[in-house]
Amino acid sequence: MSSEPRPRRPGPILAAPVPPPPEAPLPPVRTRERRPFLLDFFPLESSDQTRLSRFFDRLKEGRVSTTRCPKDGLLHWPPRTACPQCHSEELEWVDLPEVGHVYAFSAVLGGAPLGMEDEVPFAVGLVDLDGAPLRLFGRIEGRPWTELQIGSAVRLESFDIGDGRYFYRFRATDP
Ligand SMILES: [Zn+2]
Repeated sequence: MSSEPRPRRPGPILAAPVPPPPEAPLPPVRTRERRPFLLDFFPLESSDQTRLSRFFDRLKEGRVSTTRCPKDGLLHWPPRTACPQCHSEELEWVDLPEVGHVYAFSAVLGGAPLGMEDEVPFAVGLVDLDGAPLRLFGRIEGRPWTELQIGSAVRLESFDIGDGRYFYRFRATDP
């Protein structure tokens, strides 16, 4: 081993130290759970996120509604910002019938969307609304899927997702 002192390395030429960037403000505190956007089953609902925010505002009032074109009378589902028949954007909001009957159904036994993993198995299906020429898809609550039948009566209702948003579901009403 050499006893000579180690040669001093030339000191680095340093620029003036760069001050750290100002600390970014913390994101707002989230009071409600938010799911990752791409895995979020439910749509964003506020008026700065969708032109269909009235649909969701009405859901919060317990009303499931859609748009209708006053020019040609066409009832839309899902609700639209413009009539697909005449392209008018002057549409009116109408409440949907609250009662319908199951046209077809199936069950989700696995691979449920994020946030619904603990709820399998559950039923989903197509429901013909009484008094409206519409067939809606959605979850069917209120009865085990093994006890549902084609033709079962259901009620269309809004429900609270729990994070400030609302959506619609069906609830079996047969005894
Ligand atoms: Zn129209």
